Amino acid sequence: MILMSIKIDKDKCIKCGKCIKVCPGSLIYADENKKAFIKYEDECWGCTACLKECGVSAIKYFLGEDIGGRGGSMTVNKGKDFWQWNITDGNGKVHWVKINTKESNKY
Ligand code: SF4
Ligand code: SF4
Repeated sequence: MILMSIKIDKDKCIKCGKCIKVCPGSLIYADENKKAFIKYEDECWGCTACLKECGVSAIKYFLGEDIGGRGGSMTVNKGKDFWQWNITDGNGKVHWVKINTKESNKY
């Protein structure tokens, strides 16, 4: 069984602590160097809140096999007015979707 979970790249983490604050399950903690890590990865239910908060794309989200294929993953790049979702499928091919956050937040 493939669980939903994330991986945090400590080399990219700038210790902002946002992912720790937004995780609804309190699954992410800071290590002795204040870098974030997921402590209870089996309990991650894939809400993507941490992923969307990280401004430096340090968090990788593992996709379910039905979405990304075996080994698929996703990261987010944030710009001033956009989020770009980068999806790497099970064959290593990268697909992306760019969302205009100004327009998408209009009701
Ligand atoms: S995806 Fe959601 S549940 Fe999983 S670690 Fe991130 S914020 Fe927590
Ligand atoms: S949101 Fe990103 S940069 Fe901030 S603590 Fe979490 S992983 Fe590190």
